[in-house]
Amino acid sequence: MTLSALQQKEFLNRGFSRRSFGRLATVLAAGATLPFYNELALAQLSKVNNAPPDAVMINANENPLGPCKEALEAVHKIASNGGRYMYSETDKVQQLLAEQEGVKLDYVRVYPGSSAPLHQAVLAFTSPERPLVVADPGYEAGQRAAAFIGSKVVKVPLTGNYAHDVKAMLAADSNAGLYYICNPNNPTGTLTPKADIEWLVANKPKGSVVMIDEAYTHIAGAPFNTDLVAADKDVVVLRTFSKIYGMAGLRAGAAIARPDLIEKLGGFSAGMLPITGMAAASTSLMQKNLVPERRKLIGDVRQDTLAFLEKNKFSYVPSVSNCFMVDTHRPGDEIVLAMRAEKVYIGRVWPAWPTHVRVTVGTQEEMNKFKAAFLKVMA
Ligand code: PLP
Repeated sequence: MTLSALQQKEFLNRGFSRRSFGRLATVLAAGATLPFYNELALAQLSKVNNAPPDAVMINANENPLGPCKEALEAVHKIASNGGRYMYSETDKVQQLLAEQEGVKLDYVRVYPGSSAPLHQAVLAFTSPERPLVVADPGYEAGQRAAAFIGSKVVKVPLTGNYAHDVKAMLAADSNAGLYYICNPNNPTGTLTPKADIEWLVANKPKGSVVMIDEAYTHIAGAPFNTDLVAADKDVVVLRTFSKIYGMAGLRAGAAIARPDLIEKLGGFSAGMLPITGMAAASTSLMQKNLVPERRKLIGDVRQDTLAFLEKNKFSYVPSVSNCFMVDTHRPGDEIVLAMRAEKVYIGRVWPAWPTHVRVTVGTQEEMNKFKAAFLKVMA
């Protein structure tokens, strides 16, 4: 794909050089299929090849429960219609999300997951002159997309309570294009108070956008920020069905924002979406008790695992999500490898915290295996 004359002019005006055109076109065309893609791709960077079939995979913040029973039935039922485009399946997801989130229909754009709109927001709102401001440690996909196209990235350490330091994020650059808030944060599983997010939205520079990635918000039971979207603020909320709904491989997600912001993400984004993912998404949204039930299931296993860490005097970050960080007081990469030798695949290490490893909350059985292996490796 090559950029149109209009796109070239717009990117030049925003401070990109002609040298960036190839990469900008790549992100425009490929969206979510690039190497900085998603949690699994980032997990693969730590060279998770050939894991044995009986390995415990708690490395990529996946949901071991998978899609709910009703969603699976919907997938089976619709699969025989796979020869049809059936746009109406996407429309159904859009309608349900708009109703449930309290926004108008044209504030919701459906995607195959949330990685695509995350990358597109970086493309739309950052440039060499208008940085992406992120928390550190934080989810890296946006930073990687920004670095790929030549936008500046400003990293701001979390507060002592592991929240996004919104005051420091604002002070970090007076001309930021995009503030990325991941709530709860990946990898720490910790929340930023809604009042802090609202403060950032109220005080940010004109023309900048706050993107709130709510991939894990259902799991934490924290308030959504779509009310800020409904109030027409400069906010993009990202939704995904990969986490609480267990659909990382089926693919569904959305960007929720004012129509002019959605338009800036680009029209090239979604195209036709798989009817299996769409049917599973709309069916999941219609299950009244699904979110609270799963929140409790995941929360119980998390609490059990954190209690184990406490009892054995390991220091960890008090997470409310489906992952947590534990301090190994050694180079974290060594522990990751030693755990693999025990057939337990845990997550990666963030450069800002080299002795911490991130662990995803799996099933109770998987976490029991984690506990045994962790005690052995740390002995
Ligand atoms: N945002 C966060 C914070 C994530 O952890 C992930 C994946 O793990 C994503 C976005 C993107 O996931 P998906 O494209 O599956 O929606």
